[in-house]
Amino acid sequence: MATFAAPPADLHPSDNPGLDPRLGVAAAAFANSRHQMLIDGQFVASTSGKTFPVFNPANGEVICEVPEGDSQDVDKAVHAARRAFDSGPWHTMSPSGRGQLLWKLADLLEKHTDEFAELESLDNGKPVSVARVADVPLAVDLFRYMAGWATKTMGSTIPLSAGPDFLSYTVREPIGVVAQIIPWNFPLLMAAWKLGPALATGCTVVMKLAEQTPLTGLRLAQLITEAGFPNGVVNILTGFGEPCGAPLAAHDLVDKVAFTGSTEVGKLIAKAATGNLKKVTLELGGKSPAIIFPDADMDAAIAGAASAIFFNQGQCCCAGSRLFAHESVFDQVVEGMSSIAGKIKMGAGLDPLTECGPLVSEEQFDRVTGFLKSGREQGAKFGAGGGRHSDRGYFVQPTVLSEVRPGMKVVDEEIFGPVVVAQKFSTDADLDKLAMQANDTIYGLAASVWTKDLSAAHKMARRIKAGTVWINCHNVFDAALPFGGYKQSGWGREMGAEVLNNYTEVKAVTIKL
Ligand code: ADP
Repeated sequence: MATFAAPPADLHPSDNPGLDPRLGVAAAAFANSRHQMLIDGQFVASTSGKTFPVFNPANGEVICEVPEGDSQDVDKAVHAARRAFDSGPWHTMSPSGRGQLLWKLADLLEKHTDEFAELESLDNGKPVSVARVADVPLAVDLFRYMAGWATKTMGSTIPLSAGPDFLSYTVREPIGVVAQIIPWNFPLLMAAWKLGPALATGCTVVMKLAEQTPLTGLRLAQLITEAGFPNGVVNILTGFGEPCGAPLAAHDLVDKVAFTGSTEVGKLIAKAATGNLKKVTLELGGKSPAIIFPDADMDAAIAGAASAIFFNQGQCCCAGSRLFAHESVFDQVVEGMSSIAGKIKMGAGLDPLTECGPLVSEEQFDRVTGFLKSGREQGAKFGAGGGRHSDRGYFVQPTVLSEVRPGMKVVDEEIFGPVVVAQKFSTDADLDKLAMQANDTIYGLAASVWTKDLSAAHKMARRIKAGTVWINCHNVFDAALPFGGYKQSGWGREMGAEVLNNYTEVKAVTIKL
């Protein structure tokens, strides 16, 4: 079984400018400790000995250093996962044994909710109040939900037309060694979405955390060993995309790669996977419409559409980033959302009153402010926001843009920040025309429809080309609900029973009686 000894803190927490004085003792001690990757049940430095800094996005200071994994570490981790899958105790562990481990991991995570919420807030910038009620409990729920599936991945019996002399049945078997590459917007939750189904179905995992936000994934690695997962079943690496993610996606001993991130990198992953034709699932970008009909409950629709874009600083792949409002309510909606945007309390994630934290990194800050500049140059009207907040940290004001049209960068491209573009639809636009406007994007991840007319709501739901349609709500997630994209938003689904198909192979067995 794995051993873990907490490394001594290098610097007293109170002397580390990357920390936040509001951190609890446990989170401060972990953030401030010497960090190591999990390979084959051991906590190790990178083979090269290199490390890289992790930044606090609220003030730009370095929190700590983490190992800079590269292809040598990938190779070690993949071999460990291979051994654990092919001949280790995972291979023979009962489904209920796997379920119990997942449940135990959920219990451990729940016990440390405050510590994880604080670490997530420190590392990613999101409000700690949000991490405490969303990120951490959703991850706990996901592990519990998947623990239940460990004993329920079943095949079926198939009647053959060849006649009664045959008995045929299918079995679902784990795909094997799975590479998982995750992003920085919901670091812990994305780790849970990926680990849960892989472990429930009996796969082994090599996960690469996002370089911007490795802290909760590294802390989760400790809980994974504490829960008692056998060595090599879960390996967790820190490192950058090209030197660490790319060799993982291309590795010949990996049977499947599951990726969440940008559409651009998703395409690279799909190419990297062709060497051994490993299976691929991708959860990619979005430019999701939020559509407000004139009969909607306006207060709820305006507040809902604001939350659809501003939640998590707009850093959600399913953010409601294109707003469509009927011409009769358009001004009211834009004014209402602008007024909400102007009142959102901005600050460091660890301030308990903060509603909108910084963006995750300087790079992301530059990207989003670049879009604001382009919107300004192309003639968009700013109802609210439009600039940076504070001269320290990576804060961007919640922003509402109108007088925009397809062809403008802010309308066509995913911004991944707190910026919504508002467009009108007219009374003569029937549902087909409106759906064409809403579907006029390369993406197809999600949409929300706001109306009291049930028939119109369901007719729109049918016409929207996206993996999720919310009616009179947005950003509602559940471990039982499949999530994923049409078009360039991805391949396959996360969560729900659906995800299990992406982690299993089906074998048809036929016997001549
Ligand atoms: P973002 O642009 O929002 O940072 P990315 O798609 O670049 O999102 O990153 C998501 C994840 O993909 C991160 O873990 C990152 O390190 C990883 N990544 C980036 N480039 C590559 C690549 N060429 N191959 C594999 N993984 C990569």
